[in-house]
Amino acid sequence: MNKIVFATNNKNKLIEIRDLLPEGVKLLSLNDIKCFDHLPEEKDTLEGNAFQKAEYVYQKYGYNCFADDTGLEIDSLNGAPGVYSARYAGLECSADNNIDKVLKEMQNKDDRRAVFRTVISLIIDGNPFYFQGQCTGIITQNRRGTTGFGYDPIFQPKGYDMTFSQMSRDQKGKISHRGDAVRKLINFFSTM
Ligand code: IMP
Repeated sequence: MNKIVFATNNKNKLIEIRDLLPEGVKLLSLNDIKCFDHLPEEKDTLEGNAFQKAEYVYQKYGYNCFADDTGLEIDSLNGAPGVYSARYAGLECSADNNIDKVLKEMQNKDDRRAVFRTVISLIIDGNPFYFQGQCTGIITQNRRGTTGFGYDPIFQPKGYDMTFSQMSRDQKGKISHRGDAVRKLINFFSTM
C-alpha cells in the first residue's frame, strides 16, 4: 500500500480527502508520523507555500507528501488578500476581522468579482506535482449565512444566490476551489 502524508493539522480536510482516496493509497496525518512541528509558510505565492510545507515533511520525515494553500483574490483590490488571506487584518486576527477589513475596502467598489484559488503541491519520490482548483464569484455587501469558515459569509459563487455560508458542506464541496483541486489530486492517484 502506498503511504502518503497530508501536511495539514486541519481534521476536516483530512477526513474529506480520506473518504475520496482510491484503495491502495493510505493517507497519514502529521500526527500519524509524529510531526508536531510548525510547518514553514514563508513564500509569497500559494504554489510556493504549498510546496514549502510538502517539501519540509518530505525532507525531514522521508514520506511522500502533499500540502495545500488557499487564497481569496479580489479583482478590485488587485488580487488581495491572496496569499495573505489568513492574516489580512493582522497576525493575530480572526476571520471576522478579515471580513470587516475586506468589506471596508470594498465599500465604494462596483466591481465585486473575486476568485478563491487552492493549490495542492504533491511530492512523490522527490518529484513535485501541482493541482489547482478555483471558484469564481462576488464579494457580497454584507455577511450572509452561518456555516463554513473564513470568508464564506461574504463569498457568493457565480451562478448562485447564496453565499458559501448559506450552503451545506456537501453543496460547497461540489463547487468549491478546494473540492476542484482535490478532485484533480484524486484523479492523479487513480492513474498511479
Ligand atoms: P488555508 O491555506 O486553507 O489555510 O487558507 C488560508 C485562508 O484562506 C484561511 O485562513 C481562510 O481565511 C481562507 N480560506 C481558505 N479556504 C476557504 C474557504 O473555503 N472559505 C472561506 N475562506 C477560506
